[in-house]
Amino acid sequence: MLPPSSDIIIIGGGVMGVSAAYHLARRGAGQVLLLEKMPFFGQGATGRCAGGIRHQFSTEVNIRLSSISIQMLERFPEEMEQDVDLNFCGYLFLLSSEEQMADFERNVRLQHSLGVETEILDRAEIARRAPLIDLDAEPVIIGGTNYHRDGLADPNSVVQGYVKQARRLGATLLTDVTVTSIRTEAGRVIGVETDKGEVKAGAVLLAAGPWSAPLAATADIDLPVVPLRRQIVVTRPLGIPRDMPFIIDFAQSLYFHYETGGILTGMSNPNETPGEKLDVDQEWTLVHLEHAVERMPILAQAQLLTQWAGLYEVTPDHQPILGALPVEGLYACTGFSGHGFMQGPVCGLLMAEEIVDGRAHTVNIDELRYERFIKRKLAPEKNVV
Ligand SMILES: Cc1cc2nc3c(=O)[nH]c(=O)nc-3n(C[C@H](O)[C@H](O)[C@H](O)COP(=O)(O)OP(=O)(O)OC[C@H]3O[C@@H](n4cnc5c(N)ncnc54)[C@H](O)[C@@H]3O)c2cc1C
Repeated sequence: MLPPSSDIIIIGGGVMGVSAAYHLARRGAGQVLLLEKMPFFGQGATGRCAGGIRHQFSTEVNIRLSSISIQMLERFPEEMEQDVDLNFCGYLFLLSSEEQMADFERNVRLQHSLGVETEILDRAEIARRAPLIDLDAEPVIIGGTNYHRDGLADPNSVVQGYVKQARRLGATLLTDVTVTSIRTEAGRVIGVETDKGEVKAGAVLLAAGPWSAPLAATADIDLPVVPLRRQIVVTRPLGIPRDMPFIIDFAQSLYFHYETGGILTGMSNPNETPGEKLDVDQEWTLVHLEHAVERMPILAQAQLLTQWAGLYEVTPDHQPILGALPVEGLYACTGFSGHGFMQGPVCGLLMAEEIVDGRAHTVNIDELRYERFIKRKLAPEKNVV
């Protein structure tokens, strides 16, 4: 049953929304109400993602966010009573130009300064660690990087853990409720309108992933977040070892990781256009698989298990929009541009701090605030897939 009012409303039950619900409830932030339009939680971007977790970013803020978030995932089974299938198999970036090598060497220096011991690998070491990869396929691989504490976790388990514990702490999390608008009066939030009626609230957190911009527009905020289709193919088991690193051919935005003995592979279509497209583009699948087989020839013997499309929630600088918006009582936690799952735990914590304490403090998120678009001060994340 939809209550007539709440202290805080969260729009969206993906990893961001449920993590925020848990952290707000844990802080004793009052009545917390999360509204999810689908019949289940975590069926948006979160449920369609590849489950990769990594520290290897080009900006300090992302390295800090991931470091804390991955530690939270490590403690998850104990703290949240939910296993998340954490697999520290590493993330192996394959690089194919001197320019990329120089960029990544710069990133590695930054990562080292923050305690992230990423290694730079030569071709021989890559061949040893990733024997299924053809390094000579075009573009020829000249080197790479790896960090042993990067890897994989299960998105659905993370979502379920937060839902269970948020409810246990007294938060109300509802499915099948679509928020149709954010209601404001005299420059401040007063609640939301839904397909099941109105709910009043003094604070609203917008965590609607790729669907965030049209909702922000109902509060007269121009949120630069666009949905962009990305696709995944999973094979039947091929005898792939569980410790195979998450491998990314960076130039082609082509990646592979272990998935129940088979391979999960994705490749970003550089010509994809924004839109709520959730059907699989089979033409792109053919292009993707052609490149995938060249880079990982064992895939020529693979049988298709399943494939799907999902939506990235993309911002102009590939950085999320976090914290208070220019409408009092309205907050955003969205726009992660392809790497949000791994940052869900820490971003929920930060949003609880922002709402309860008036300012997020575990990590300084000032460069991720909405104001950067008004001041035109963007510091893009370059290590995006
Ligand atoms: C193919 C693919 C691969 C990816 N791989 C990775 C990866 O390896 N690692 C990684 O960290 N990230 C990855 N990502 C990105 C990651 O999935 C997202 O950044 C992250 O899940 C965003 O979480 P969210 O909670 O903001 O959004 P979502 O999970 O989309 O949640 C938003 C929720 O809001 C709900 N909603 C929307 N509108 C309304 C409304 N009007 N009323 C009520 N509810 C509403 C939606 O139904 C949805 O459940 C990938 C994404 C895709 C698509």
